[in-house]
Amino acid sequence: MSKRFGQNFLVDRRARSRILDELKAEGNARVWEIGPGIGAMTAMALEAGLQVTAFEIDHGFVRLLNSCFGGRPGFRLVEGDFLRTWQAELEENGAPDRIFGNLPYSAANAIVCSLIEGGLVPPRIVFTMQKEAAQRMAAVPGTKDYSAYSVLCTSACKVRMAFDLGASSFWPAPRVTSTVVTLTPRPNPVGAGNRLAFSAFVRAAFSSRRKMLRNNLKANPGVWARAAASAQVGEAGPDPIEASLELLGIRTDVRAEALRPEQLAAIHEALIHS
Ligand code: SAM
Repeated sequence: MSKRFGQNFLVDRRARSRILDELKAEGNARVWEIGPGIGAMTAMALEAGLQVTAFEIDHGFVRLLNSCFGGRPGFRLVEGDFLRTWQAELEENGAPDRIFGNLPYSAANAIVCSLIEGGLVPPRIVFTMQKEAAQRMAAVPGTKDYSAYSVLCTSACKVRMAFDLGASSFWPAPRVTSTVVTLTPRPNPVGAGNRLAFSAFVRAAFSSRRKMLRNNLKANPGVWARAAASAQVGEAGPDPIEASLELLGIRTDVRAEALRPEQLAAIHEALIHS
């Protein structure tokens, strides 16, 4: 068992089948599984007729998975860090219909950001993660959990906390409660025109929680000003940030945590065209 790879195994068979139900995948659908471990969910998905591409970083598990499922129709294994392997797999074999995984706690955030920022949001994603991480994904403005990460997740996806799993569902038992989260693409995604630029803008907007939005943005002009020089603090002429906020009817002393993803996207748009 490796702490480094966040290895807690889902030993609760009923939970595994509830997760598979949440995938709502028809037989023959192409699914990606992140971190199959010893393959308990993989076996269930293959039995349901799904075509499974599994991404596993742990070499020992890769050998085990190959000996259990290697050569089985519908099964593919990609060895290595998912963050470094998924784009090549996408280019080679196309987008999956579904993605699921019981994510390692330390990498859940990076995996979700990598998919959304990389523009891969299939019709349904089902991730199991630490409950606090799920709450941060789904958080709404004005709450302590609302962050650049919540904006990224909720601007691209509808985030639903499906059900919780207690520590006893796993071995070894973690010290935290886990939550199964579903992500489905928003019909009206926000900031989708240039996801990476919007994401960098939102990170800048939240860079210091105590500061007003306009001060955070002034400190990071490179992420929103076409000519960064035009954003220099103290420069003569109207402040483009205040002018954009006023134009949109938003208070100029607002903090990012009070703004909905739609409002942040409108400010970003106004600034890049100012
Ligand atoms: N799916 C199994 C289950 O539910 O019982 C194992 C889940 S365990 C929490 C996380 C799994 O992800 C482990 O098998 C671990 O080796 C693998 N893993 C961790 N980081 C990874 C990464 N960056 N890319 C691919 N697999 C990773």
